[in-house]
Amino acid sequence: MELKGKRVLVVGLGRSGLAAALFLRRQGAQVTVSDMRSAKALELEIPMLLEEGIAVEAGGHGLLTFRRQDLLVLSPGVPLDTPEIRQVRAFGQQIVGEVELASRFLKGRTLAITGSNGKTTTTTLCGAILAASGVPTVVGGNIGVPVVALTDASRDEGWNVLEISSFQLETIDTFRPEIAVLLNITPDHLDRHGSFEKYREAKERIFANQTAADFLVLNADDDVTHRAAARAQSQVFWFSRKRVVRQGAFVHEGVVMFRATESGPAEPVLPVAAIPLKGVHNLENVLAAVVATRLAGVPAEVIHATVSSFQAVEHRLEFVADVRGVAYYNDSKATNVDAAAKAVSSFPAGVHLILGGKDKDSDYRALLPLIRERVRAVYTIGAAAAKIESHLDVLREQAGAIPVVRADTLERAVALASESATPGETVLLAPACSSFDQFRDYEQRGERFKDLVRALPLATAQAPVETSDLEATRQGS
Ligand code: ADP
Repeated sequence: MELKGKRVLVVGLGRSGLAAALFLRRQGAQVTVSDMRSAKALELEIPMLLEEGIAVEAGGHGLLTFRRQDLLVLSPGVPLDTPEIRQVRAFGQQIVGEVELASRFLKGRTLAITGSNGKTTTTTLCGAILAASGVPTVVGGNIGVPVVALTDASRDEGWNVLEISSFQLETIDTFRPEIAVLLNITPDHLDRHGSFEKYREAKERIFANQTAADFLVLNADDDVTHRAAARAQSQVFWFSRKRVVRQGAFVHEGVVMFRATESGPAEPVLPVAAIPLKGVHNLENVLAAVVATRLAGVPAEVIHATVSSFQAVEHRLEFVADVRGVAYYNDSKATNVDAAAKAVSSFPAGVHLILGGKDKDSDYRALLPLIRERVRAVYTIGAAAAKIESHLDVLREQAGAIPVVRADTLERAVALASESATPGETVLLAPACSSFDQFRDYEQRGERFKDLVRALPLATAQAPVETSDLEATRQGS
């Protein structure tokens, strides 16, 4: 892609938009950035951009700004159906996202990971395994470093491990990872995508450009990703925690196995008991990482060693403290119903569950069976509190009612939960909602929760005895 002298508009000045603008400028493009936020809100970015010779339009997008360009680079936060973007499309101007732009300049091979939940954990794990094997590895995308910022560090003989969101996939064109991983597809972001079908279609774009030389790693236990295989041109490998798969990774007698060919033998990779991460969902993430990194050529011993010493990524079912026998877990990143369900199912019983935040058109009734089975009390916070309470209303009516208590704020929720939880029980922040009603982001929400827990009298940082469902998996399959 030749960028020298081209007029390029970057729409949206988030982390990836900023990185894209600087990258384009370095490639010799004439760059303008346009953002809905006011000049005041962008006061830190604007002087730096002007210094670099990048023009800035703040406080809205002008149609004329859009029409003057050779190329548009859209940030993942920008919806594709605004009047400006529709006009630009009608005029046939080229529109790409930051991932597409970067993919034209990345050296080496790419392992791209998407899914509704588990992307960050699996991406971090794959990056750690590949790096441990000694190949040059860069990690980025939807986590941490934007992909354009990885282009310099990428190597011909190395791997680029990328976490890719559904929003980022909407604006790819030729992006073709040698290995694509589709972890799971459960309802999320329906407010933005409009329907589950649209969301699924966006996710499946991760393998749309793959050929028979490439690999697609799919979750055999997830109905939606299972059906995606029919649309793949690439070689499909599976992972399953419930059954033996023809090609890919599975659990047999407590050991994670990998089978490279349908007719070949399965090799042991690591015992399930060696996985330090809590919850069955993390077993799924490990299985996916095993397939992806074995396909990338990493020996089983390296995978075993790296997984065994891997710690939970912050805010993902992260142990915070033990306070008078009650364990506190921070899963602030559980921003949708399925992630919250996975979090609850990681504890056998006695859970005090904090739910709420900004609703994403979610159906919280999906949590009812798990709540009945394992939850002592629910505390609701944030803008979604009333909706969650109405979805969980049946809990009040049944015999042995499970209380659903309006806490409104995280402060109050922690205070109420800490008052009623008894030794051996768990207080879990797994809100099933995004955080933007009361917090800057899920990180700030998680930090606040941890601060509140640590401020409780008699908090110690000693992890409690492991009682997760991994135990059941070890014995069962
Ligand atoms: P993502 O980057 O896709 O949001 P994370 O690894 O950050 O994924 O995890 C997000 C949330 O989902 C966390 O609450 C985590 O505990 C939960 N989670 C992680 N892996 C899975 C999975 N495979 N299935 C369901 N939930 C998961």
